[in-house]
Amino acid sequence: MEITYPFAKVFTDSTNKVNVFFLHDTEHSTFQQIGDIGTGVVDFCELDFSGVVEKIKALETEEVTNANFEDMKKVYWEAVDLLKEKHSYAHLFLNGDLLRNFYNPDRSEDEKIGYANFMFQYYINLQADYAGALEFCLSNEVLSEYTLPERYVMFCNLHLDFTHHILHSMYSVAPMARGKFDIEKIIQFNDPKDVDTKSVLQDIHRDSKHSVSMWQYFAIQSLEEMLYLEFMEMIKRGIRIKRCGLCDRYFVLADKRKRDYCDRIFENGRTCKQLGAKKRFHENVEADIYLQEFQRIYNRMYSRYYRMDAWDSNRQTNKLTEAEFKAWTDMASKTRQEYKRGKISGEEMLERILKNIE
Ligand SMILES: [Zn+2]
Repeated sequence: MEITYPFAKVFTDSTNKVNVFFLHDTEHSTFQQIGDIGTGVVDFCELDFSGVVEKIKALETEEVTNANFEDMKKVYWEAVDLLKEKHSYAHLFLNGDLLRNFYNPDRSEDEKIGYANFMFQYYINLQADYAGALEFCLSNEVLSEYTLPERYVMFCNLHLDFTHHILHSMYSVAPMARGKFDIEKIIQFNDPKDVDTKSVLQDIHRDSKHSVSMWQYFAIQSLEEMLYLEFMEMIKRGIRIKRCGLCDRYFVLADKRKRDYCDRIFENGRTCKQLGAKKRFHENVEADIYLQEFQRIYNRMYSRYYRMDAWDSNRQTNKLTEAEFKAWTDMASKTRQEYKRGKISGEEMLERILKNIE
């Protein structure tokens, strides 16, 4: 299989970081260390695509003609640009997909627009799929009676298509000392103009306790593969996620320390963590009886949707359809967000989420 630009060389090592070289073309590459494995996939799931969707929806009724093709093309580029600065790698891969599509000499203009539409819809669906997978397998708030391997196997049983995912990516090896990615050395190695490659490689080998100092990396070409790789690393390492006590979005629990708030900017340049620490009311999110009751009701709905009886076959459940479950969780999340922001009381939150049950 041949790889085309842009793509990413992804190194995972014994630390909790993902090291990525983004190769934009034969001459340009950038390096990025993505802090805490899982941050990329969790942030992707929490991305707000509504601006992108709006731009593309407006095109749906339009017919592709010679005259408007360039204008339509521009809308897709603008939609991708909305993701710039918002996500460490979503922008790079979507940009790459669009490049490969619009410069494909074998596709007609009509096909190119059709493909671009399909691509965005595909990624929006992918976002929903991964949000579901993260919660099912790695959130401490649901399914706490099951172990992580049980949850992963249950998830795969319920979503057979997920287990059919494969990495199409190339796999290769590069020098690395002691199972750890050494940013400086690898960067030097990658930039042969400025350094004596031979001595860098000898250094890497001397640092290694083993006779072999090579390590694998993946050459990743699509957002889908990158999400899959990162999600699987989370599963392998048992990295959990939690909902932020203030903005209500999921964040990665990188270590065993107790954390209630994420590091995202909440307002006026201040993060949830900085603001959350000051809010006496939310000082102990776990002891909040209203949120506890919310979680109990949420978990009941969750079990009804996912039919835990698929695993535990003697149990009868009152099954919810996907549409019913989604409508209810959308409403419930919005309500919980309002409560966390202090806009409604705990009683009101519970009253609202219970209104449409049964
Ligand atoms: Zn937050």
